[in-house]
Amino acid sequence: MTVAVVLFTADLRLHDHPPLRAALASADEIVPLFVRDGAIEAAGFDAPNRRAFLADCLRDLDAGLRDRGGRLVVRSGDVADEVCAIASETGADEVHVAAGVSAYARRREERLREALESGGRRLRVHDGVVTAVAAGAVTPASSDHFAVFTPYFRRWSEERPRDVFGAPRAVRVPTGPRSEQIPDRGGVSGVSEGLPEGGEQAARKAFTAWRRRGLGAYEEQHDDLAGDGTSRLSPHLHFGTLSPVELVHRSREAGGAGAEAFVRQLCWREFHYQVLAARPAASWKNYRDKQDRWRSEKEAADEVEAWRQGRTGYPVVDAAMRQLRHEGWMHNRGRLLAASFLTKTLYVDWRVGARHFLDLLVDGDIANNQMNWQWMAGTGTDSRPNRVLNPVVQGKRLDPDGAYVRRWVPELASLSGSAVHEPWKLRGEERDRLDYPEPVVDLSEGLTRFRQARGLE
Ligand code: FAD
Repeated sequence: MTVAVVLFTADLRLHDHPPLRAALASADEIVPLFVRDGAIEAAGFDAPNRRAFLADCLRDLDAGLRDRGGRLVVRSGDVADEVCAIASETGADEVHVAAGVSAYARRREERLREALESGGRRLRVHDGVVTAVAAGAVTPASSDHFAVFTPYFRRWSEERPRDVFGAPRAVRVPTGPRSEQIPDRGGVSGVSEGLPEGGEQAARKAFTAWRRRGLGAYEEQHDDLAGDGTSRLSPHLHFGTLSPVELVHRSREAGGAGAEAFVRQLCWREFHYQVLAARPAASWKNYRDKQDRWRSEKEAADEVEAWRQGRTGYPVVDAAMRQLRHEGWMHNRGRLLAASFLTKTLYVDWRVGARHFLDLLVDGDIANNQMNWQWMAGTGTDSRPNRVLNPVVQGKRLDPDGAYVRRWVPELASLSGSAVHEPWKLRGEERDRLDYPEPVVDLSEGLTRFRQARGLE
């Protein structure tokens, strides 16, 4: 009787799962294992929203395995120690895992390989699980990664991802290995009220609905804040309850401008992975140093707090920040405006904002959060590093009749049309009635401070 361990990490699904498929093909029995990694918890990276969403994913994975005759084993601690312990308890001689994309995941993979090999066991690492194209698989002639998106997208698009695999019909597991109780989102405190449901079933339902109703119009609607016309699949991609390979294939099959634009966004995710895989330090250090002397959290304490609470006095920024707190998710345009406001208008260190996002985002991801923050701070891969988004102009453009602001900032619900973007223009009683703060900063003063700091004037 041969036994193999399948170690689940950021790939909490049964469909289109190469490690599971390979293990089932090569062993008589498998041990589906998830280790609650003590190092991730110790680093404070398991924010409540992600912990709750993860609990949903693990419960759903266990249910899916049980439907097929198996079950999930959950352990806590050091990943290499726990995997080795399970392998020796069950006599497994192989462990299958998805290739990691972060520096941390790669170090973990190395340690695991060493620990297994010293016990005479083998680690089999599978590409095409967390990304459609492996980070580092395509590179320009003169560098180890692409620093510009468009040429990366061109090369990425030329790679044909492998075929999509179905979910297994049956899973045979050995009797014996003890599992901890699978966590429940009910046991997590501090979770956002509007947090979406996690798990592969919820993810597949969301993707099916998206293909039917959203994908076709994505090209025209993805910037409409109130219309909410993006897929909201980012948490499912982050936890791997959806396969990026499957998303690319199914979207291309659907065809059309919407599908093309959507696949391009999926590529942005992989672009950032390949940047960070080549430059792991960019997770907390400037990718391109602009000699900024950012204001620290302490120096700008009141403004940072107003930003976090959604009380800056700039309605579209406040709406976005409140959406983040309420849902653990924010529209991409909202993220850009909130990040531009903190880094450029308030001239506060991008790391302060990135940390706050990581504390709340259900899709919070080191590569995509940090590299997008750096993009907006002008220290990343943006070719226009000094661009500043004006929250009033952008608010009117992306939320022309103010519906997004009214949804998230109820104090302004009585205002109609785009007047909602400039409440300070109201006079007399109408202004007095609004329980809404004056702007924390004058936009032109903020712009001058930033331009002087960058040596532009
Ligand atoms: P859709 O528009 O439907 O796009 C489909 C998928 O493409 C997304 O689910 C996502 O996986 C990917 N994608 C889209 N835009 C981007 C982008 N700019 N960069 C990378 N991938 C993208 N995304 C995260 O997944 N995790 C983060 O922690 C994160 N932090 C961000 C922080 C800032 C300051 C900014 C400006 C953007 C951040 N993004 C992050 C990228 C983007 O905002 C989200 O991926 C997107 O809003 C998720 O919504 P959606 O699934 O509806 O996206």
